[in-house]
Amino acid sequence: MGLTKRRFSKARTASRRAHFKTQPVTLVNCPKCHAPMAAHRVCPTCGTYAGRQVFEVRETEEKSGS
Ligand SMILES: [Zn+2]
Repeated sequence: MGLTKRRFSKARTASRRAHFKTQPVTLVNCPKCHAPMAAHRVCPTCGTYAGRQVFEVRETEEKSGS
């Protein structure tokens, strides 16, 4: 591990961290089912990724009880 030559002030550290923020998930349309989905993820609607079936899509069940 390298060591920094001198400590940075709180203001310098805070101003660097001012750009640390979460970004909204990029939505794209699925090439197969054309539903909006997160980019570079398996489509939750049809279960495909890069043109191949990754998992079988089951009917969503209503959660009963609590
Ligand atoms: Zn899809």
